[in-house]
Amino acid sequence: MRLKNKIAIITGAGSGIGRGIASAFVKEGAKVVIADWSEEGGKEMVEQIKKEGGEAVFVETDVSKAADIEQMVKTCLDKFGRVDILVNNAGIYRACNLHEMTEEDWDKIIDVNLKSVFLGSKRVISEMLKQGKGKIVNIASIAGLVGFAQSSAYCASKGGMIALTKEMALEYAPQKINVNSIAPGVIKTAMTKDMLDDLATKQFLESSTPYPRLGEPEDIAMAAVYLASDESDFVNGEVLVVDGGWVVK
Ligand code: NAP
Repeated sequence: MRLKNKIAIITGAGSGIGRGIASAFVKEGAKVVIADWSEEGGKEMVEQIKKEGGEAVFVETDVSKAADIEQMVKTCLDKFGRVDILVNNAGIYRACNLHEMTEEDWDKIIDVNLKSVFLGSKRVISEMLKQGKGKIVNIASIAGLVGFAQSSAYCASKGGMIALTKEMALEYAPQKINVNSIAPGVIKTAMTKDMLDDLATKQFLESSTPYPRLGEPEDIAMAAVYLASDESDFVNGEVLVVDGGWVVK
């Protein structure tokens, strides 16, 4: 087991990629905190893990709020006594032309996708410094590496996440805290459902992905297992692109 007895917090784990990561972590021996603002999805995930014999706890968390992050980490420490891994996965996407985007929408996307990484990492790093080791995995996007129209705040948030990953990696490498990001391509989840329900958009996304299928949450989960495990101790500040070849074209 690659994550035996590791304690992991996964944000946005009530749905999609976060769920996939939580399942894979539990299969590899981790105990997990499911942090999501969706109580329904989060509790359902905890029930599923318990049925399969794993250990998990749900904490209702809005990752853009410092008080919620504090509660999330406190729940983890109270239940499991430590935190070895944080996966900053919760995120939102809204398609909108830049000139029509409201300031509120811009702030919301930046807060949920980027400020959350600062808040969550800041809090767990304090614990990881005491523990002498830690792993942070940020779920970015290929939209942080290449441009996507109608995605200004989303691209900015994911590009910022990749830059912040490098900064944190450098700052905390001497204390054996690894910080890496994953840049998924198109993954079949609730986030992409509307796009994939539209035939023309689906065909565009499929034809832009050289590999002959779109991604599944499990594709990202296996990359996250690697970056959360001791196998990747010498990997730091990297962006692991998992996109079926979209950005190398
Ligand atoms: P998803 O199925 O919509 O799951 C995201 C989860 O995060 C949902 O449970 C959502 O709750 C929750 N969430 C949203 N805002 C939150 C907040 N402020 N606090 C706590 N939880 C919050 O999306 P996904 O596709 O799995 O995306 C996961 C991550 O992968 C995101 O960061 C996304 O940007 C990134 N990503 C996805 C793709 C893709 O193609 N799917 C590609 C590249 C990167 P609600 O559903 O109730 O809002």
